[in-house]
Amino acid sequence: MASYKPPVLLDIKPNPPEGELHLKPCPFCGKEDPVYWQYETDVGPRWKVFCLGEECGGCIDTGYAQQRHHVTDKWNRRAKE
Ligand SMILES: [Zn+2]
Repeated sequence: MASYKPPVLLDIKPNPPEGELHLKPCPFCGKEDPVYWQYETDVGPRWKVFCLGEECGGCIDTGYAQQRHHVTDKWNRRAKE
């Protein structure tokens, strides 16, 4: 029987100040500079974008993002302009 294991944190990368991987402020709380967060899964490491705002926990996690840019677009499309 498989038992639930919490995701293992592998790496955190800060928001690049510019370029393709730059992340807009959080669409939920407006805080700037969310981080890229890499975690382990049974089928390999995956990336999500995670807001560090207190009591926010905003995140975009597709479950299949093997590269950071796979979640960049999704986060930025949701972000407030
Ligand atoms: Zn937030």
